[in-house]
Amino acid sequence: MPVLVMKFGGTSVANIDRIRRAAKRVGLEVAKGYDVIVIVSAMSGKTNELVGWVNEISPLHDAREYDAVVSAGENVTAGLMALTLQEMDIPARSWQGWQVPLKTNSAHSAARIESIPTDNINGRFAQGMRVAVVAGFQGISPEGRITTLGRGGSDTTAVAFAAAFDAERCDIYTDVDGVYTTDPRITSKARKLDKIAFEEMLELASLGAKVLQTRSVELAMRYNVKLRVLSSFEEPSDEAGTLVCAEEEIMESKVVSGIAYSRDEAKMTLISVADRPGIAAAIFGPLSEAGVNVDMIIQNIAEEGRTDMTFSCPTDQVLRAEKALREAKERGDINYHDLVADTNVAKVSAVGIGMRSQSGVAAKMFKTLSDEGINIKVIATSEIKISVLIDRKYMELAVQALHDAFELDKAA
Ligand code: ASP
Ligand code: MG
Repeated sequence: MPVLVMKFGGTSVANIDRIRRAAKRVGLEVAKGYDVIVIVSAMSGKTNELVGWVNEISPLHDAREYDAVVSAGENVTAGLMALTLQEMDIPARSWQGWQVPLKTNSAHSAARIESIPTDNINGRFAQGMRVAVVAGFQGISPEGRITTLGRGGSDTTAVAFAAAFDAERCDIYTDVDGVYTTDPRITSKARKLDKIAFEEMLELASLGAKVLQTRSVELAMRYNVKLRVLSSFEEPSDEAGTLVCAEEEIMESKVVSGIAYSRDEAKMTLISVADRPGIAAAIFGPLSEAGVNVDMIIQNIAEEGRTDMTFSCPTDQVLRAEKALREAKERGDINYHDLVADTNVAKVSAVGIGMRSQSGVAAKMFKTLSDEGINIKVIATSEIKISVLIDRKYMELAVQALHDAFELDKAA
């Protein structure tokens, strides 16, 4: 029988009533003839509560015990979901990560999945079980200890199971009804997308559209797992949600699919750096060692052997960046006149696979911002994305104006 993976996030299993509603959806798919693997998150708020307890006892905790504690929320929902299904006369059984076993490396609290043997669960499907309920977010290390996959990790569990079991689709049930052209809180014209390409979703996810854990999208892209994001609060329908899929499956798309933003960006400028071979390595090496996520970079044209170097990073990494650069200067590895941080900027990006084949997107973007009197401080482009850094106070305006300019309120 074909396998379907259905993942329910914390708000979809927040109480017994919601677990029952989720179980009904599972029942609908079982009735269609699917063997279903259900991946559950902890009830909403539970993981935060567990993390809080760990931190209260031990701020610099042993990561192995952190994982032992924070993985517990999912165990509860897995058992409750299996019981609910059994009460509906659907043959179901729960699995914790180690029982599958979902094998990971030993990177506690941010473990990577190494393999998921399918024989155990498939054996039970062969005997007539119709639903395997698996606790998301957790696995087992080579040392035999419980591991977790990082916050939001149940999405990644779900995609990994879909890949391992060659599932027809992986449905991610959440509290939003799909992926939007932009944040509906910024413009009411934001429209739900029927389909979006993996690569676009990755850009949107990493730019702060937190619908899916970024790793889960990377994994889905690598194994070509069809992902559907949908709300467990809406009536079931085949058209519900947004399908995240390979580019080839999207027949018609707009040049720009979405406008993303990231509010907490900072722009840092090193003034008057000696322009010599190796200077970029001498600056960005220490930054990367200090764990600073540098995003955009510009190096100005040098005059008399000196230049300005500007880069952006998240606002909460500014202090770390300043320290790393100051230390590099003290060691004599770099030499600059001044370091200026502007923490009042935001990044706005237009994303779309259509940009690969169409020109003029950048020009239109810049014209739109200039018509609104918004000054662009830094520009960066990739094959499917154009990003600008602007004053934070204009962020909403920029998103709205670009959404209008690219007519994202209208279907392709
Ligand atoms: N419960 C975990 C968390 O809150 C994993 C997940 O829900 O995806 O991060
Ligand atoms: Mg989540």
